[in-house]
Amino acid sequence: MKRGVLGTLQVNIGRLCNLACHHCHVEAGPKRTENMEGAVVDRVIELLEKSKTIHTVDITGGAPELNPHFRRLVSAGRKLGKIVIDRCNLTVLYEPGQEETACFLKEHEVQVVASLPCYSKENVEKQRGRGVFDKSIEALRLLNNLGYAQQDTKLILDLVYNPLGPFLPPDQKKLEPAYRTELKELFGIEFNRLYTITNMPIRRFLSDLQRAGKLTQYMELLSNSFNPAVAEGVMCRSLLSVSWNGELFDCDFNQMLELPLGASRRTVWDISSFDDFEGDLIRYENHCYACTAGAGSSCSGALV
Ligand code: SF4
Ligand code: SF4
Repeated sequence: MKRGVLGTLQVNIGRLCNLACHHCHVEAGPKRTENMEGAVVDRVIELLEKSKTIHTVDITGGAPELNPHFRRLVSAGRKLGKIVIDRCNLTVLYEPGQEETACFLKEHEVQVVASLPCYSKENVEKQRGRGVFDKSIEALRLLNNLGYAQQDTKLILDLVYNPLGPFLPPDQKKLEPAYRTELKELFGIEFNRLYTITNMPIRRFLSDLQRAGKLTQYMELLSNSFNPAVAEGVMCRSLLSVSWNGELFDCDFNQMLELPLGASRRTVWDISSFDDFEGDLIRYENHCYACTAGAGSSCSGALV
């Protein structure tokens, strides 16, 4: 399958993160030093200005907010009329120097996509570390108080669920109402949509699988659950991924595996527009079964 028209530019702005979660495909953490520099951010903005088809700038990391150029990229994207997404781990809003971040996100009508792998404290902290759950709940309340996921505002707050182990996520359509009820009743929290995402058998989660002797079993589960109905809609067909140093990839997962673009290795300095990628080959490998298993999986949740 080849790439169609690009709609989303996913910018992995750096691998620095205040957390170091077990399932993290980026292997992000507090000691990572890879962070997008100003010149690369400038070039991304320049290319976005020329793009006729990209409607969404999806900023991920690490914790994107920790990059000193994050706000400049957000402001530029919004000025260009793009939807801007911040993939926020919530706890980062309470890191030193981030006191104004939530208000900044509100002012720029940034869509927040926040990870919350469960509504139980025990399960969240198993995956993301001690103290994460309470801070996440506090951050969600803060965003709600600012108008996120409230009626009559344009402020979108979506949540992400991913399984705690080597199994497929439950049905997104069924899990969303359960999350809505539990979060409202337990904590008074509201959100817009819930995305279920399948764990990618790469990097940190791959090491976990290998340590537990469950890699073969998980890969069999993914490949036996291949769903041809979702294969055509995998996100790489309409998305391009930029790494912290300006290299381009078919998706964030291929970026972490250092698999160059299916068509040819390129950086933001080698291209004159993001609109020249239609019809290009995409590099598919075995990990891609995580995107095509069951109901499918993407950064925007299930595919069907
Ligand atoms: S918060 Fe996100 S980027 Fe940071 S370690 Fe956890 S999964 Fe990785
Ligand atoms: S992992 Fe494979 S199928 Fe999924 S988005 Fe990346 S290239 Fe596409």
